[in-house]
Amino acid sequence: MATVTLNNVVKRFGVFEVVHGANIDIKDGEFVVFVGPSGCGKSTLLRMIAGLEDISGGEIAIGGKLVNDIEPADRGIAMVFQSYALYPHMSVEQNLSFGLRMTGNPTADTDRRVNRAAEILRINELMKRRPRQLSGGQRQRVAIGRAIVREPQVFLFDEPLSNLDAELRVQMRVEISRLHKELGTTMIYVTHDQTEAMTLADRIVVMRAGHIEQIGRPLDLYDDPDNQFVAGFVGSPKMNFINGRIVGRDAHGVVVELAGQEKTRIAQPLTGAAPEAGSKVIVGVRPEHFGGAGEGDTDLVVRIDVVEHLGGTSFLYARTAHGEDVVIQRDAAKVPDASEITVSIRKSYLFDERGLRLR
Ligand code: ATP
Repeated sequence: MATVTLNNVVKRFGVFEVVHGANIDIKDGEFVVFVGPSGCGKSTLLRMIAGLEDISGGEIAIGGKLVNDIEPADRGIAMVFQSYALYPHMSVEQNLSFGLRMTGNPTADTDRRVNRAAEILRINELMKRRPRQLSGGQRQRVAIGRAIVREPQVFLFDEPLSNLDAELRVQMRVEISRLHKELGTTMIYVTHDQTEAMTLADRIVVMRAGHIEQIGRPLDLYDDPDNQFVAGFVGSPKMNFINGRIVGRDAHGVVVELAGQEKTRIAQPLTGAAPEAGSKVIVGVRPEHFGGAGEGDTDLVVRIDVVEHLGGTSFLYARTAHGEDVVIQRDAAKVPDASEITVSIRKSYLFDERGLRLR
């Protein structure tokens, strides 16, 4: 097991800088997920930790040891890819043992490690099969098994569940969580799927365009995002964003008027400096923070376009008078019949025009 430390890590491909100085301290045994939209640099960051990409600047240490110039095989890491990369002509057992046999590991120890991995992943029954005789989920288990037998200090996962269907993804997500509990090894996991990040991570690193936007525990990012990007990325359905304007201050904080709703005002306590009156702001409201009329300080009239019933909860897809799309979460039993309803805002976040959170 090991810590992983990134100190001002930069990556350039030719003249293009794609990672702009990443600082991350990963604790021993921690499960950290790098998440962000396509092209944000998360895979590149993982591949630099693995040693599959050179580092253009900065330092990476694994277990306190600088690894910038150390070969991938000598870093004590094992990586699991989206494409399982199994040898098609070998059995599961041979796929698991191949790497160890190649390095001349003693047979008895190889057998022990292979059996243990098979047991942890519950693939004992499949040991004689070839990859083509396995389902996608079983293949991914074998790929993870190949990482386990190496007994690495750090596991690296690059979108390992992307090729699986939705149901299997959920199942394998739970398996990977269980694996982390059982082994207690440091794990770094790359995904663009915020649900995977929320459910797997001890801590999430949210990236955008080569920058780290915020690092934090899943619920801390959800409850206390630093900016509009993180607020919108974490949570499903997304946080709603409604345009507003600062109209002044009262005893509770700044007073915001929502666009197109002259009577609708939100008072937000702010400890920091508030933008001057007249400034545009964005009001962020999570779907579950819309209440019934009169349940919060602020009432807002919306028109419902579509209602999605999921069983216990329902989502109302609606539009404000100003034309902003909003999603409202309701208990299934409380879905109103009317097409125009008044909702209240029970909790909201304020962002300035650049998307920075006003606190
Ligand atoms: P995805 O989820 O689509 O894989 P990502 O967040 O993992 O995206 P990276 O694959 O790390 O993103 O890529 C980051 C940026 O670096 C992208 O703009 C990409 O085009 C660029 N890039 C990646 N590999 C190379 C390469 N070998 N040569 C040039 N540019 C590259």
